[in-house]
Amino acid sequence: MAKKAVVIGSGIGGLATALRLQSLGFDSVILEQMDGPGGRAYVHKAEGFTFDMGPTVLTVPHFIEELFSLERNLPNLEEPDFPSSVLGDDKRIRTGISGGPNTSRYVKIRPILPFYRIYFDDGSYFDYDGDPISTREQIKQLAPEDLEGYERFHEAARAIFERGFIELGYTYFGDLNSMFRVVPDLLKLDAVKPLFSFVKRYFKSDKMRQVFSFEPLLVGGNPLRVPAIYAMIHFVEKTWGIHFAMGGTGSLISGLVQKYQELGGEIRYGAKVEKIKVQRIEGKKQATGVRLATGEEISADLVVSNADATLTYLKLIDPAYRTWNRDSLIKLRKQSMSLFVIYFGFRAEGLELNLQHHNIILGPRYEELLTDIFDRKILAEDFSQYLHIPTLTDPSLAPPGHHAAYTLIPVPHNGSKLNWSVIGNDFATKILRFLEEKAYIPDLQDRLVYQKFVTPDYFQNDLASYLGNGFGVEPILRQSAFFRPHNRSEDIRNLYLVGQGTQPGGGTPSVMMSAKMTARVIAQDFDLSLQGDNNPVELSHPEFAQ
Ligand SMILES: Cc1cc2nc3c(=O)[nH]c(=O)nc-3n(C[C@H](O)[C@H](O)[C@H](O)COP(=O)(O)OP(=O)(O)OC[C@H]3O[C@@H](n4cnc5c(N)ncnc54)[C@H](O)[C@@H]3O)c2cc1C
Repeated sequence: MAKKAVVIGSGIGGLATALRLQSLGFDSVILEQMDGPGGRAYVHKAEGFTFDMGPTVLTVPHFIEELFSLERNLPNLEEPDFPSSVLGDDKRIRTGISGGPNTSRYVKIRPILPFYRIYFDDGSYFDYDGDPISTREQIKQLAPEDLEGYERFHEAARAIFERGFIELGYTYFGDLNSMFRVVPDLLKLDAVKPLFSFVKRYFKSDKMRQVFSFEPLLVGGNPLRVPAIYAMIHFVEKTWGIHFAMGGTGSLISGLVQKYQELGGEIRYGAKVEKIKVQRIEGKKQATGVRLATGEEISADLVVSNADATLTYLKLIDPAYRTWNRDSLIKLRKQSMSLFVIYFGFRAEGLELNLQHHNIILGPRYEELLTDIFDRKILAEDFSQYLHIPTLTDPSLAPPGHHAAYTLIPVPHNGSKLNWSVIGNDFATKILRFLEEKAYIPDLQDRLVYQKFVTPDYFQNDLASYLGNGFGVEPILRQSAFFRPHNRSEDIRNLYLVGQGTQPGGGTPSVMMSAKMTARVIAQDFDLSLQGDNNPVELSHPEFAQ
């Protein structure tokens, strides 16, 4: 009989792991506390508008294709992670084709160009599309002194991408040795110094320093602190492009749910897990199932938590089964920033928008603003934002003659003690007024037909994230690789974690990688032949052998 797996949470990490478990031959059930799937990628629909509440920028489409190619008892965990056919092939970005044959049976994915329009505070902008010719042309216009530095940066970022992503991206750092083995290479590539310092070595102008360092903010990293290995994002985007799921990211989520159900998986909504059941078996702590908030108990051979990694240990495990010093260590970890996001719909007739699908609108300050958000934890007078207008690509997301949009502003997490129920309304008004006054969206207040906003409280209360973090634990050097929460619990066997708070980190491609890494350690622990042998035998991994 197939072994039974429970997956807590239907974020992209939970869905991708559950799909892989079905393909490994487990019978799995996903328990999601919300009334629909996706976690951060939940969809909000109102008054004819469809709003993706979270991720909008899809990268590395072959990770998605891998998931849609899975079959029951035919896991593809042994396939190369980066087949040569997808390396360096950016032709598809320019021909408007993306996704693969299996993906297209579930969701239509198309490339977006430019990747981002980056507006500076003086009104000038940079259209970033990864094409070196147009990049050089724009640097010549905006900061000619940085042309030569760009060439050197490009080569340094390529080296980091090749070693850090292609070769080491899927390395699971389960022990310190695995970490020590890669440190010399990372030191040689300068990949451990803070990204902003790394970028400053190549660029003199503030504008180019911002353009080539802002991207980690999209996965919760502070460019001033995140290790320079994150320069690889530049190359990940350049190599495989930026993509959009037609119908919104929600269509990708629906496709993944459909695929999962086709492989025999079960998904339950409104199913909040209150505790992970742990028993001592042969003197060792072992996860044996979960208890829901309703009191219902579900037994399982293994439990995977896609819930916030910090809260998985602090709330879901009974104190009697927690390692004595773990709680204080967990609380010491830095959490990523949070977000204020306004979802809004507006009339489009007669409106000419000088905007792209993805827009970054930078404020007057960069380093100081980052310090306000991440360290001082105050709400500054100024702000930077990411403005998303998906109806420029897919008008079906709004009623005819309207645009659907969201704008996202990085703000401190709830360690700040800001009272969002008091300040939220005024802050939303201030942001929308800014978009109108600076003519990003002229007459916005008159044109506005719908708005809703979420604050760090949404992340804390609805998504159950520690301190309302937006992206799990902050990606800093001392919380990366081995020092990031492990995908295989170190002290409770048959308990696994997956998602942005675990290895390798946040953002949709990393979370899909996290799922594959978690599935791999499960296959190893249950001695599953990756060719589809679904007769698990004795646990035998080294962390539990003593
Ligand atoms: C506004 C926003 C925009 C973003 N934009 C991008 C982007 O454009 N591109 C990109 O790559 N990344 C982006 N990201 C990051 C990306 O969305 C996340 O890294 C990723 O979706 C996280 O997936 P996950 O599976 O780790 O967790 P989550 O999506 O957080 O899923 C965790 C799930 O667990 C459930 N859960 C928690 N506790 C329990 C419990 N006790 N019982 C049952 N269920 C529980 C939650 O309800 C949730 O559904 C964005 C994030 C945000 C917030």
